Amino acid sequence: ARTFADLEPVKSDSLLALIELARADTRPEKIDVGVGVYRDSDGNTPILRSVKQAEQRLWQDQTSKSYLGGRGDVRFTQLLRPIVLGAHDGDERIAGLQTPGGCGSLTLGFKLLEAGNPDARVFVGTPTWPNHVPIIRGTTLEIVEYPHYDRASRKLCFDRMAEALKSARAGDIALLHGCCHNPTGADLASDEWAEVARIVADRGIIPFVDFAYQGLGDGLEEDAAGFWRLLDATDTLVAAHSCDKNFGVYRDRLGTLWFKTPDKASTDIAMGHVLQISREMWSMPPDHAAAAIRILLDDAALTADWRAELDTMRGRIAALRDRLAAADSELAYIGGQKGMFSMLPLTPDQVVKLRTDHAIYMADSGRFNICGLSDDQVDRFAAAVLQVMH
Ligand code: PMP
Repeated sequence: ARTFADLEPVKSDSLLALIELARADTRPEKIDVGVGVYRDSDGNTPILRSVKQAEQRLWQDQTSKSYLGGRGDVRFTQLLRPIVLGAHDGDERIAGLQTPGGCGSLTLGFKLLEAGNPDARVFVGTPTWPNHVPIIRGTTLEIVEYPHYDRASRKLCFDRMAEALKSARAGDIALLHGCCHNPTGADLASDEWAEVARIVADRGIIPFVDFAYQGLGDGLEEDAAGFWRLLDATDTLVAAHSCDKNFGVYRDRLGTLWFKTPDKASTDIAMGHVLQISREMWSMPPDHAAAAIRILLDDAALTADWRAELDTMRGRIAALRDRLAAADSELAYIGGQKGMFSMLPLTPDQVVKLRTDHAIYMADSGRFNICGLSDDQVDRFAAAVLQVMH
């Protein structure tokens, strides 16, 4: 009989392979823009001051690590709620619970949608974050691709996206990035969100908003505007939120899943299913970051400090975007985009050339992490990119 001893080797994840390659390169001028985490101007991904203080209080005050239950830290989710939902905070048709990161939230959300309708189709933009597809493939839901970004013009291709979404049937799902699109940085403008809201409402499409970078684009409220518009427009919706980037707690795995149905009774029933499904997968989410962020959000001074730190992160990303955009007209498009990522119109050969000739490491797709650049690397990076492009 075949067993797991007979499995074929997994084709290596190109991003993980890239991390290894970058690590092995000893050239002092090395630039690593492959990795997907925020970096400060010294190239570090520090623990936020406000988070560290909250963790100190947690360490001092926590008296038990006994089980909390499937929803995780309920007070944390309550405190996060107005930040995620804005004016929809008080809508009792919307429920949320803590999950192991945005990944856990996406997985749980798609399993909920599968339980609701195993024959639904999921409209997924191309390109998208590479983990979306395997997560959806873990369900019976069928994937239908829609064009999100046009590499040649370096722009969101909204008309083609809207056209494709119009072919969805009632009950189909539209996966949308709330803000700071990964991998392209190409977000929807306000009028485009309004159009998507009209399309999903008219056709009974269920939006699934992946909201992993709130606060790293234009600001906490600004980045939620598209999501809030969808909440205005429809009464059936799912959202996967992550606190891993905006609180910098990546490895502690802090996310939340949010869902809305037409009435509170149905939302309560959906929560019962969600808890049943999560019990099979992880039983309960990890506590540490949720407890720390609960302490942080419960304290006005710590919350204000966190907002200031988030402003600093966002400001650094925006400043780097502006510098790259100003470096050459061919890079101007980077200035209008949001979040940590952007995509250079490079062939895989050109990406390899950057690696071998310039010690610059990025994904084969040309996706790079803006804040992987330290302030003194921007000019050399732009020059090297332009050189291999021509
Ligand atoms: N969605 C997108 C678009 C992401 O880029 C990421 C993280 N790279 C996630 C979800 C998952 O984040 P987390 O680390 O919180 O699981």
